[in-house]
Amino acid sequence: MKKIAVFPGSFDPFTTGHLDLVKRAIPIFDQIIIAVGVNSNKKYLFSLEQRLEWLEDVFKDHPTVDIDHFEGLTAHYCKKIGANYLLRGLRNASDFDYEKTISQLNEQIGDGLETVFLISRPAYSHISSTIVREIIKGGGDVAEFVPEGIKIKDLNE
Ligand code: ADP
Repeated sequence: MKKIAVFPGSFDPFTTGHLDLVKRAIPIFDQIIIAVGVNSNKKYLFSLEQRLEWLEDVFKDHPTVDIDHFEGLTAHYCKKIGANYLLRGLRNASDFDYEKTISQLNEQIGDGLETVFLISRPAYSHISSTIVREIIKGGGDVAEFVPEGIKIKDLNE
């Protein structure tokens, strides 16, 4: 059976931490689908279109990585597209506490959907989309925290 993993997240914006995780996961899975979760109750800094466009650009040379978006439960989305794994990253103990519950729920409602966790490499464990958004809002340069194809400065000009 083909090993298809969904990497779900808000990616508002996608960071070098996310990128490192996906690159390390590429040899593990036959296909990885980076899926931007859309929650209509949540306010995002960047539009869905913008986030998808950046992701398409970052992964244009990676044939086993696809970009998509979904609404509703991640487990239902995985079932719909035939994905049998979820990919998530762990940076610290609070990520672990949160992810543990979510992965147990997904295993239950996703009929055995397994979550594969990669522990973030030390160079990336302090990077989060939240921190990147704070730097942007404060007028700082985030070039070193986001992949090369993501030109956030242009947006603010
Ligand atoms: P969510 O909205 O679900 O929190 P995020 O876009 O913040 O989504 O993150 C998606 C996934 O990427 C999560 O599993 C998160 O733990 C992981 N992640 C985020 N930043 C890093 C990082 N710096 N290193 C490794 N994993 C990360």
